Amino acid sequence: MRVCEKVAEIRSVVRELRRSGPVAFVPTMGFFHEGHLTLMREARRRFPSVVVSIFVNPLQFGPAEDFAAYPRDLERDLRLARETGVDAVFAPARTEMYPERPCTFVDVERLTGVLCGRTRPGHFRGVATVVSKLFNIVQPDAAFFGQKDAQQLQVIRRLVEDLNFGLEIVAVPTVREADGLAMSSRNMYLSPGERRAATVLYRSLQVAREAILGGERDLSAVREGLAAQIAAEPLAQLEYAEILALPDLTPPHATDKELLLAVAARFGRARLIDNVTVTIGEKTET
Ligand code: AMP
Repeated sequence: MRVCEKVAEIRSVVRELRRSGPVAFVPTMGFFHEGHLTLMREARRRFPSVVVSIFVNPLQFGPAEDFAAYPRDLERDLRLARETGVDAVFAPARTEMYPERPCTFVDVERLTGVLCGRTRPGHFRGVATVVSKLFNIVQPDAAFFGQKDAQQLQVIRRLVEDLNFGLEIVAVPTVREADGLAMSSRNMYLSPGERRAATVLYRSLQVAREAILGGERDLSAVREGLAAQIAAEPLAQLEYAEILALPDLTPPHATDKELLLAVAARFGRARLIDNVTVTIGEKTET
């Protein structure tokens, strides 16, 4: 496995890899868990070459957020990537990605005015900008993203379409702990009590999904029930609980078939998000 810190280096490695066929790309912020590894395995299964990036992008963190504290363990990440059959890792320093304060940013409108876009101003601008840079650097044929970050996935799909990046976006279902908690690098912030409390997110999402699948069409009532169930957990500080139509993240209408149920809450220092999708008329597992 090649490990590259420089843009010029990863570009030349990708040029070599491309000789054996299309290249898949998995962008990450590192501190790997089974969610990241599932993305890599899925990429490996579908493509002859897999490139992973590890970069904690300062642009997508707000001033009061956890950029400095975000967990990092490059040595362990490289070992896990190697064991998963990754061909190359791009792990640039901050100065390699941003040698100067940038003048150019990518803003994806509308889709970023809801959910995390409301509570984390500038977050998706940071994500869209760094992902655009990474796509330009690696120039992959496909990129793999987790359904765990459902809004990010829609933002990136739209970015790729609007700016003609010409690559396939592959979504991978959320990987969960045995008790349903979505895997996240931020779960390490949780105390044992908060860790137990955090299971309320997926539990309440499932209750809401079952209600809709059971025929409940009063989505505001379902949304209120979802919010109330999370708010009732003493260790949870609810940020939002929303039901929106996919893929545009607009308020749902009776005719919408694909719904996103998304929640965000704080448990101590950890801000956690989770979501499920519901296809009306059919059960989906995410
Ligand atoms: P991150 O390192 O948190 O930026 O995540 C890198 C990629 O892994 C993103 O596409 C995430 O959506 C995806 N990811 C993170 N956690 C999970 C999970 N539990 N299941 C599936 N994908 C995940």
